[in-house]
Amino acid sequence: MTSSILIRNATAVMSGGRGESARLGAQDIRIQDGIIREIAPSLTPRADEKVLDARGGIVYPGWINTHHHLFQNLLKAVPEGMNDDLQGWLAKVPYPRLAKVTPELLRVAARLGMAELLLSGVTTCADHHYLYHAHGGTETGDLLFDVADEFGMRFVLCRGGAVQSAAAHPGFSKTALQPETFEGMVADIERLKARYHQSGPHPMRRVVVAPTTPTFSLPPLLLRELAGVARGLGLRLHTHLSETDNYVKFCREKYNCLPVEFVADNDWLGPDVWFAHMVHMQPSEIRLMATTGTGVSHCPVSNARLGSGIAPIPQMAAAGVPISLGVDGVASNESGSMVNEAHTAWLIHRAAQGASATTVEDVIHWGTAGGARVLGLESVGRIAVGEAADLVIYNMDHLRYWGFHDIATAPVAAGEPARIRASLIAGKVVVEDGEIVGLDVAKLRRDAAQAVVSLMSENLETETA
Ligand SMILES: [Zn+2]
Repeated sequence: MTSSILIRNATAVMSGGRGESARLGAQDIRIQDGIIREIAPSLTPRADEKVLDARGGIVYPGWINTHHHLFQNLLKAVPEGMNDDLQGWLAKVPYPRLAKVTPELLRVAARLGMAELLLSGVTTCADHHYLYHAHGGTETGDLLFDVADEFGMRFVLCRGGAVQSAAAHPGFSKTALQPETFEGMVADIERLKARYHQSGPHPMRRVVVAPTTPTFSLPPLLLRELAGVARGLGLRLHTHLSETDNYVKFCREKYNCLPVEFVADNDWLGPDVWFAHMVHMQPSEIRLMATTGTGVSHCPVSNARLGSGIAPIPQMAAAGVPISLGVDGVASNESGSMVNEAHTAWLIHRAAQGASATTVEDVIHWGTAGGARVLGLESVGRIAVGEAADLVIYNMDHLRYWGFHDIATAPVAAGEPARIRASLIAGKVVVEDGEIVGLDVAKLRRDAAQAVVSLMSENLETETA
C-alpha cells in the first residue's frame, strides 16, 4: 500500500536552494512513501490521496537544527547565570546540575525540546548530548532516539563526552562525577552505530562522534585517535570550537597556534566535520575551513545571550564554508525555535555589517539545505523531486501578515510566533493546525513543572563548593 499526500494551493514555495533556485512560486507538491514525487503548478488529486489544503500558506523545507543540547530544556533562565559569559554560565547553570539530570528528567527535557522544535517547523534535529560519565549515562543515547521516534523527528545523535582527568575538565572538577574511559566511550559509540545508524540518502537516525570540546575533553593524542575511530566506522565528527576568545587564548598558550590550526593538526578538519559557533576566527582559519569543506553550525542567539560575539558568517559563506543553523541549548537561548534563530541570523549580520550582509534566501538555505549538507543527509533539506518529504506549511492567515508585499519572506522576516498549518517528516504529518499530532500537552506541562522544581537552585545539594 502506498501513502500519498497532495499539498495544494500554496501561495509560494521556497526550495532551500540558493539564488534563482530559491523560489519555486505557487506549486502543488505530491508526496508518496515519504518522498517528494511531483512539483507542478496544478496537480489533480487522486482517488486514494490525502489532500492538504495550503491555501494562502507558504511552504518551506523543514528546518534542520545542527546543534542542540536537549537536556537543557529544563534550565531556561536560571537566575544566577542570566548575566554571565560562557565560563561563568557553565559553572553556575549546567555543571552543577549534570549529575541531577536523571533519565526520567532527560526524557521530560527531550520531549519538551522536541515539541518546541516541531512547533517552529524543525524536521531534523542534531542533538549534541554530552552527559556521559563513569557512573552511567550510556542509556541516554537510547532514550533520545526513543523520544525522537515518539515525535517522528529525523534525529542525529552527536555522542559527546569527555575523558580528561577530573582536574583538567571544568565540568567534572565541579561535581563528584568521574569521566568515562576512552575505551568505554568508543565501545558505546560502536554499540550506538550498530543499533541506530542508518545509511542511504534520507536516514531517520544517524550517530556522530562529538566530544564536548576538542581542547578540554580529551588530550590531543586521543582526539586524533577518536577521529580515526569515527572515520573507520563511517561516522561524522562534531564539537564546539572558538565560541569565546578563551579557545584562542588556550590554543595560543598551550599549543602556540590558532584553534582551527590545532584541530587541523589533529585530523579534525574535512567535509565530514562541523563545528558549533566559530565566533572568533582569523581569515587564515576561514580559508582552512573552506578549503577542507569543514562546516559550521551558526548559533547567533546563544552567542548574543552569552556575550560571545557575532560569528563572521557572511565572510565564511563568501569563502565557501558550508553554513548551517543551530539553536544551541536553551539554557543559553531561552528559545528552541529555528524561526527565532533564522530571524536573528538574518538581522544580526545586517546590524554589524550593513543591510546587504544577509538575505532571507541565504538564511533559509543555511537553515535547511545547508544543514543537510553539514549532517551528510544527501536527499534531505530541499523541496525538489526525489528529496525526503520534510516540509512545513506556514499559515499566513493572521493580521500580522497583512500588508506584506513579498509574503514568501514572512516566516523569516517577521519571526515568531510561527503559525503552522501542517508539518511533515518523511511524508508523515507531525503537526496539524498548530498542534503536535498525538501529544498530551497538559501532561507534558505537568511533567515539566515538576522537573523544574527538582532542578531549582535551592533544591540542589551543595556538592559544587
Ligand atoms: Zn553547544
